[in-house]
Amino acid sequence: MKEISTNEFEQEVLNGGKVVLDFYSTECPPCEAVAPKFEGLATLYGNDIKFLKIFRQNNRELAEQLGVKSSPTLLFFDNGKQVGNMLSGGIKRSDIIHQLDNILPVERVNEIKSQIKPSVSEYDVIILGAGPGGLTAGLYLCQSKINTVLVDIALPGGQVSTTHEVSNYPGFIDPQPGYMLSHNMSEQTKLCGTVYKVAVDVTKVNLEKKEIIIDEFETIKAKKIIIATGTSPNLMGISGEKELKGKGISYCATCDAKYYGDKEVVVIGGGNSAVEEADFISKFASKITMVHQFDAFTANKQAQEKLFANPKINILFEYEPRSFVREGNKMITEVENLKTKENIKLTSDGVFVFIGMKPNIELFKDKLELDNWGYIKTNEDMLTSLPDIYAVGDVISKKYRQITTAVSDGTIAAIAIAKALD
Ligand SMILES: Cc1cc2nc3c(=O)[nH]c(=O)nc-3n(C[C@H](O)[C@H](O)[C@H](O)COP(=O)(O)OP(=O)(O)OC[C@H]3O[C@@H](n4cnc5c(N)ncnc54)[C@H](O)[C@@H]3O)c2cc1C
Repeated sequence: MKEISTNEFEQEVLNGGKVVLDFYSTECPPCEAVAPKFEGLATLYGNDIKFLKIFRQNNRELAEQLGVKSSPTLLFFDNGKQVGNMLSGGIKRSDIIHQLDNILPVERVNEIKSQIKPSVSEYDVIILGAGPGGLTAGLYLCQSKINTVLVDIALPGGQVSTTHEVSNYPGFIDPQPGYMLSHNMSEQTKLCGTVYKVAVDVTKVNLEKKEIIIDEFETIKAKKIIIATGTSPNLMGISGEKELKGKGISYCATCDAKYYGDKEVVVIGGGNSAVEEADFISKFASKITMVHQFDAFTANKQAQEKLFANPKINILFEYEPRSFVREGNKMITEVENLKTKENIKLTSDGVFVFIGMKPNIELFKDKLELDNWGYIKTNEDMLTSLPDIYAVGDVISKKYRQITTAVSDGTIAAIAIAKALD
């Protein structure tokens, strides 16, 4: 693959026909994750589209001119013009394919697709999900010389990467930024030698056959599977939520609070996440209105005391949201007073929703024994109701979901598997 510098940009890119340009950096895990996808697609599309790389650190001015703010970023050009969307962060193979297909005639795309050869690989263990549970299992298995692949639909790290600060993970005197803790966990496991396939589409999971298909054409078989897919935020399921998700409604304070400097926001929920995250958002926002359905928070006492002492925070107890509407730059949240049944409208710049989580089990929920809330039942070795299929972390039926408990589950599953494979 050709590497260019700023001097060659005009000749290679602007006068270069159809081009995809990868701005990469060193010491950049998302760049490492995209590199094999980029190279694989270069082999497939290389006769029609030029695949180029450019080192961002040495070509900063050009990167800034082109609006590139992070690594990796992929830009697409057709006859000197930038086309399609720029891709950055945890880039999936399917996202790149979508952009490449858009700059080629349909007949040519069909010809290229017909050349794709399905691949099959075999490992001892597949771990689905690279949060703390999956990463810990990966580390222990790797140190036991067990051939393991970690598969994630996003970049490694799980929910910890989007948690602003973690102060209760042992081993650190000061609170750790969540992204650093998850980065260190991920690098430790990767350095040991566990194979990573991250930011992929998990197309199919066949637990009985112990095989999965990723990115449509890549089959991975194993002797054992560990499910470590964690949880996702619950949606409220009310009018306007789907349409305004990411356009005024957010489920991640670490990701989005920074956009609300000196602005007013509504926070929905009353558990630990809502209370802690509202406190974090108040570092940016000028005013926060919290909406909670009960007459008291369920968060821990320490977090509640901090919140009550925060002058930026107003609380509406015994109110429930009924709809979201966007009017110009403002979000209108209609909430019902559960005692009087009267509705009022809250005007804000944005809304954060923290109303609990649901297990990520869509791809295999019919095959496993679950508890009443849809979490996977396991025994004390983390074995599920199916032979050779283990589950760890937030996705399993248990009382307390924390980084430490996910890490503990991952440890147990890995040791049990190591013994079973011995
Ligand atoms: C806002 C917030 C703050 C928190 N703060 C703290 C704290 O301060 N201290 C603490 O101990 N805990 C905290 N937690 C809880 C903690 O983050 C979780 O308990 C922990 O991350 C669970 O780890 P896990 O590996 O089970 O799952 P996750 O961390 O959820 O990781 C699951 C991984 O699986 C991937 N995945 C999902 N579906 C699939 C699929 N189909 N195929 C492949 N991969 C998939 C996801 O992309 C993700 O990377 C917090 C949680 C939140 C939401």
